[in-house]
Amino acid sequence: MQKITIVLFLASLWLACCANDKPVGTSATQAPLLAEAASAAPDTLRPTPKGGAQKPSSGAPTKTSEKAAGAPAPAPNAGRRLAGFVEVKSLDSSIQLDIRYATVHNFTKAKIYDCPRCFLRPEAAKAIAKAQNLLRRQGLRLKLFDCYRPRPYQQRLWDKVPNPDYVTPPAKGSMHSRGAAVDLTLVDAQGKELDMGTPYDFFGPEAHTTYTQLSAQVLANRRLLRRTLESVGFQGIRTEWWHFSFRGKTFPLSDAVWNCRE
Ligand SMILES: [Zn+2]
Repeated sequence: MQKITIVLFLASLWLACCANDKPVGTSATQAPLLAEAASAAPDTLRPTPKGGAQKPSSGAPTKTSEKAAGAPAPAPNAGRRLAGFVEVKSLDSSIQLDIRYATVHNFTKAKIYDCPRCFLRPEAAKAIAKAQNLLRRQGLRLKLFDCYRPRPYQQRLWDKVPNPDYVTPPAKGSMHSRGAAVDLTLVDAQGKELDMGTPYDFFGPEAHTTYTQLSAQVLANRRLLRRTLESVGFQGIRTEWWHFSFRGKTFPLSDAVWNCRE
């Protein structure tokens, strides 16, 4: 009887910590990162060390921030505009949005953002509009899954998944929380996503840009996305085909949260 109790207890622990439908990689180096921009991006903008996924360190998540115990609700920006940022749709309304963290359709299964909006630093927003123009000539468009991620929302994400293999600790911040990163894909003229080999936020080596056991069409689609984004000043990362960070300028982390009441 006691053994059964122990087994049930262990099973519940596993469910609490690990159960989701993502095929998580078997090692830290296989795990793609929401921590991407902070720890794995091959850019030179960040003062943080390079070298891929951080290994989980015992106790680190709980010590990172006192806020993690109960993150306060982010204070919404009072005005229509978010100071220091540009809403991407205001530059080109044909850019599609599917901001997953404003829904439960993300790997945490929880709604992280209060509403779906896509802001970026002005230089990065203009570059995305430029990329959209380049793609339009080929009958394609961009679809954005995530843009600027206010630090209070990064905190919510961390509270759900306090594991630096998957989420950048809020205190460290990511390029998303600097307003200089996007998660995106390509869609055709009908708005249908091109085949990129895996869904967005797929946890496994198949999402890596170095993974080549994919169809010629998938590899061509990924190449087109990467080359287009690189041509306007972004740089991809190895572990996530959908993530690109804006190069050339360093931006500070930001707590500003967009208004959902307008
Ligand atoms: Zn990203």
